[in-house]
Amino acid sequence: MAVKWSRALPSVPSTVTVIKDSAGRYFASFVVETGPEEGLAPVTPEVGVDLGLGHFAVLSDGRKTDSPRFLRRAEKRLKKAQRAPSRKEKGSRNRDKARLRVARAHARVADARREFHHQLSTRIIRENQAVAVEDLAVKGLARTRLAKSVHDAGWSQFTAMLEYKARRYGRTFVRIGRFEPTSQVCSACGAKDGPKPLHVRQWTCAECGAVLDRDINAAVNVAKAAGLAVSACGAQVRPGFVLAQRDEAGTHPKPHPTTARQAGIALLQVGEEVKPASSSAPGDLLDGYRAALFVPFTAVLLASALSAYGLLRRPRSRVVARESRVGTP
Ligand SMILES: [Zn+2]
Repeated sequence: MAVKWSRALPSVPSTVTVIKDSAGRYFASFVVETGPEEGLAPVTPEVGVDLGLGHFAVLSDGRKTDSPRFLRRAEKRLKKAQRAPSRKEKGSRNRDKARLRVARAHARVADARREFHHQLSTRIIRENQAVAVEDLAVKGLARTRLAKSVHDAGWSQFTAMLEYKARRYGRTFVRIGRFEPTSQVCSACGAKDGPKPLHVRQWTCAECGAVLDRDINAAVNVAKAAGLAVSACGAQVRPGFVLAQRDEAGTHPKPHPTTARQAGIALLQVGEEVKPASSSAPGDLLDGYRAALFVPFTAVLLASALSAYGLLRRPRSRVVARESRVGTP
């Protein structure tokens, strides 16, 4: 039997289990000994994550990540393929073959999705000391007919990865339950200005004048509800033109003490939090230029971070399970 190794085993395995899945693929699980986990050096950034339908994940630092295009295409193809077996005669060989094809396609999509979740969760855990996501049960309630079990399954796999990787590498992971929809609260000043229809992707806070991106605003609010020290500037598409005190402009929010990181308590902090760090006086042209430069600069940063990521190693698991593909017979 041909064996395709995805990586070398760290030690001689004590047991080997061979599994055949519904797609007819064989897997070998090895139980191996590994040394102590390599630690990660502490870092400063803390981040909130908003999981959505438009983008897969939006971070409170302003980064938006979609599922890779090939994965979205494969998911679409799979949906079509799933109808094929029912068109074949019951009990026929063709029906069996069609069913196996669907199972194979399923397995491929699931593998690609898991790989994508691994890469993104590893990157987030490496780059941030603390990560907050909202409880998906809460999210589920908020969604109506847009709800899709595929997304739910993907989200819980992804947040589970964040959670175990955080534990393994000494990062903080917080799951928050919310009482207010994040789109109703300005992440810059805490003003609550009511629900907005889904097509509203951007709005200007009536209170402080910050121009807010719906998804990033939500991610910042998730982070704040978890008591993380995040700056609200990420949520702002451009600084609000507001009558700020001259000496206020350019101040930065004080980071929260990291001990107060409990969901619930932190809700009280929304509202007493941040002066919009980049709010400027009207007619301040220099700030206008800065804002105009900010957006392309962020895009370049994101692009270079993504390409640099390809060089990062994936974390090793203690038990290398279902990792080594043995190939189809
Ligand atoms: Zn505001």
